[in-house]
Amino acid sequence: GHLEPLARRMLSAGHAAGQGAAQDRALVARDHQAVWHPYASAVQPPLLSAVSRTRANRIVLAEGRELVDGMSSWWCAIHGYNHPELNRAVTEQLNSMAHIMFGGLTHSPAIELGRLLLEITPPSLDKIFYADSGSVAVEVALKMAVQYWTAQGKTEKTNFITTRSGYHGDTWNAMSVCDPVTGMHQVFGSSLARRYFVSAPQTDFDHEWNPADIAELAQSLAEHHQQIAAMIIEPIVQGAGGMRFYHPEYLRQAKLLCEQYDVLLIFDEIATGFGRTGKLFAWEHAQVEPDIMCIGKGLTGGYMTLSATLTTKHVAETISQGEAGVFMHGPTFMANPLACAVAVKSTQLLLEQDWQANIQRIQQQLEQHLTPLANLAWVQDVRVLGAIGVVELKHAVDMQSLQQEFVQRGIWVRPFGKLVYVMPPYVITVAELNTLLQQLAEVVTGMQGASA
Ligand code: PMP
Repeated sequence: GHLEPLARRMLSAGHAAGQGAAQDRALVARDHQAVWHPYASAVQPPLLSAVSRTRANRIVLAEGRELVDGMSSWWCAIHGYNHPELNRAVTEQLNSMAHIMFGGLTHSPAIELGRLLLEITPPSLDKIFYADSGSVAVEVALKMAVQYWTAQGKTEKTNFITTRSGYHGDTWNAMSVCDPVTGMHQVFGSSLARRYFVSAPQTDFDHEWNPADIAELAQSLAEHHQQIAAMIIEPIVQGAGGMRFYHPEYLRQAKLLCEQYDVLLIFDEIATGFGRTGKLFAWEHAQVEPDIMCIGKGLTGGYMTLSATLTTKHVAETISQGEAGVFMHGPTFMANPLACAVAVKSTQLLLEQDWQANIQRIQQQLEQHLTPLANLAWVQDVRVLGAIGVVELKHAVDMQSLQQEFVQRGIWVRPFGKLVYVMPPYVITVAELNTLLQQLAEVVTGMQGASA
């Protein structure tokens, strides 16, 4: 309530440098009094910059500075910010209906979006279930898998298998299938359900497939399949669990094993979807179709939270023919019309353009600027896939001081652990991407002393 008039006054006050800095400090001070940030302390509040506006590939800070965005707001703002067509889609929808419950009612945005998404996702998927966020889409997927087996009387198939280095979200069951070491398992201990973990896929995306890579999964499924409802995995790119790109053959082998052992296969495409890896969805790299698939993030072009869980006719019918007779999930904001309307427009925008050529262009520029950094003694690895560029360091970085340096240089990059990475909005221009990557490369090149 208090923030709004202040923010409005700040916007109209212009951006004289000193004035802007004072405004930024005032906003951040008010924030620190009341607001808790992601993965942050409330006692030692995190370094923050106040944002006053966003447009295309720029983040405009209250202090007046403009940042070139390298993060797409955690993978989601694929078309950049404040896009006129996306704005129009939201405004038009707002004029007729912001929200309506989805129990017993339906509406065009949800129907149109469902039809559109089923056309561009694996052909085996025929039913779409809307949810609120990526984590909830994962919860929904896990619930579908359990209900699928329960409906057939296999009530002992209630657990899950996954690989290490995965990330699937912050709600309970999503957390339980995140990497048990880098994830949040230590913090939540025995309150988390115990899952079956196998090593992360070891063969790199573009290396020669090592057949030994699948042995542990084969072994664990052979031993435990009677307890396992589904395997969940991020296809090709393990995102927040380490930004690792692995070999498509892993998915082909995993699919065969899941079929052999009566285990459903869930693909979490929440981060990889909508073109990010160079394919519309990452399953296409392997041509392996899952039984259940989660999407989110880029779905609404970063405008608001919406996710979906898609499944096959077979899974949907089996659940519906079970004792429960229905799928037991139904959130308040399911299929929110505003979110669905902007998702339709965002997906159309993507499909209308030559997005492959654009991702290719971004990939080449990422390779050109980042690859030389692999020669630095403190850099472990540099990897690029589609519009994702990763510099993995040998030591964890000081996130706050790096963030500050990036902001001072006019770019927005938020590293975590040993990873300095970018996944820019697809609208980033050649010149902006050059600026982003030159600044990033200078910072990484100058890190020697700090990271030893
Ligand atoms: N799955 C994957 C692969 C993700 O990257 C994320 C978000 N980083 C999630 C699930 C969770 O999505 P959300 O943050 O929208 O709950």
